[in-house]
Parts: sequence; C-alpha cells; structure tokens
Amino acid sequence: MIYFTPYETAPSLFHIYEPGDVHCTLIVGRERALLFDTGYGFCDIKEAVTALTDLPLTIVNSHGHLDHAGGNFRFAQEIYIHPYERQVYDLYQAEKESLMDRMWSLYQQGKKPRPWPEGFSRQDYYPYKPCSFVDLTDGQTFDLGGRIVEAIFFPGHTRGCVALYDHQSGLLLAGDNLGHSIWIMFEQSASLAEYRSCLCRLKDDFEIKGILGSHYSGIYPASLIDTVMQCVNQRDDGRSTLFIHPRKGYKALRRKVPLTDVPGVSSLYLVYPFD
Ligand SMILES: [Zn+2]
Repeated sequence: MIYFTPYETAPSLFHIYEPGDVHCTLIVGRERALLFDTGYGFCDIKEAVTALTDLPLTIVNSHGHLDHAGGNFRFAQEIYIHPYERQVYDLYQAEKESLMDRMWSLYQQGKKPRPWPEGFSRQDYYPYKPCSFVDLTDGQTFDLGGRIVEAIFFPGHTRGCVALYDHQSGLLLAGDNLGHSIWIMFEQSASLAEYRSCLCRLKDDFEIKGILGSHYSGIYPASLIDTVMQCVNQRDDGRSTLFIHPRKGYKALRRKVPLTDVPGVSSLYLVYPFD
C-alpha cells in the first residue's frame, strides 16, 4: 500500500499527502532539503522523504498539533519550532487516544480515508514521544544551496504558528493558518486582530505567487489572503452560525463566504471565537 503521495507542486517542492487528510512539504535545494511538518507519524515519513532526496535535512514544524508534529519522533535530529508550540505539542501528545477515536469514527462513517496503515499499533503510538526541539526566530532564513526559505511568525490558528516563504517559487507555506477552513478558536489561538495584522504584513512584505495549506493538495491563489481578510473584517456574528468543536465541545462562530477561484472548493469557512 502506498501511504504517502508526493505532488511536485513547484520545481523540487513536494507537497506530500498523508491519509487522514494532511500534507507535509519538502523543499529541495542544491545542498540541503527542508521538511515543513512531519504529519501524524502513523507511518514513517522519513522513508518517504529519503525516497525524494538524499540531501541533509532541516525540519520545521508549522505548529505543535498532532497532524503536523506527530511524526517528529521518526527523526533523530533537532526540529525547529516556535517556543510557544512546545506546550501545544505536549498537550496533543496527551490527547492522542481521543483524537484517534474521532478519526476512526469518521473513517467508519465514510467521511475520511483510512487514517493509518495496515499493521499499525495504536498502543505503541499512544505513549508520549519525545523529540529534540530548537527555537525558531522570526525572519530566520534557511539556505538550501541556491534556495532561501524564510520563517515568518504567524500567530492565528495557534499563537506560535509559523509560515515559510520559499523565495525561489514565491510560494507561502501557511500550515493551518490559510486554507478553505480556518480555525482560530482554540484556547491556544491568537486573537482575530493579531491574525489580521499578520495577514497585512504578509501582503506588504512578500511577493506571494501562491499558497500551500496543510489540508489541500493544490495551490491556492495569493488572492486567498484578500478573501480571508474580508471575512475577518466583515465578521458578522448575525450571519455566522454556531460551531461546536466535535471533540472538545468548544463553542465558536462559523462564517461561510463563497470562493470562486479555488479548483474543487466553493466556500471558505472561518471559525472564530465569541468576543
Ligand atoms: Zn492545527
């Protein structure tokens, strides 16, 4: 069974799909490669990366949620992360069982692909998996050999979220902070005002040619930032609907706006807190 599916979204940039509906991204330069996120860790992402490049690897986590940092333990090397996200990582390591119960029930209802490979042991996966974190700084650059990748602090979905800008392709790797379903409603999320100011900074400081999100295989147009900005600016509690987090029971508001320029996607959802 092929578990990971890499899409070469731009030259030597692979958006790697993992069942469970999440992607890691591998950017390959002349001398090094950079892996953005490590997925759930149900299957060995390191093998999938090695099949694409044998260059030395730098690893960065967009944030500490299990579907982005769960595969960290597969690597015996330091992993860059925003300092705030260390506690998010710990929190989600402790919630594995309930997260996986939820995934399994969605799979059985036919709403999600089978999340883990044949022979996978949930019992082996449940215990806390330590990994070696190193603090990332805003504006930190990684020179992959003729290819510069820049880290941008982007508080929103969580307060320590990080995006990467690939100067070669002009693609912004936005993690869970940009996409067609944006959740800024966790106890660990930033305020909408803070998120909005980050969107402004992205527009002002970077020439973005396209956006990669963690839960979509294609490339979003750069105009997605404007659509999200409008949605944030025109937050209208009267036109939003009640949203209840399926696992934690948090209550929030959900605003739906039409999307016209994203293949296969007709609506954008922003989930945000009551004030
Ligand atoms: Zn997340």
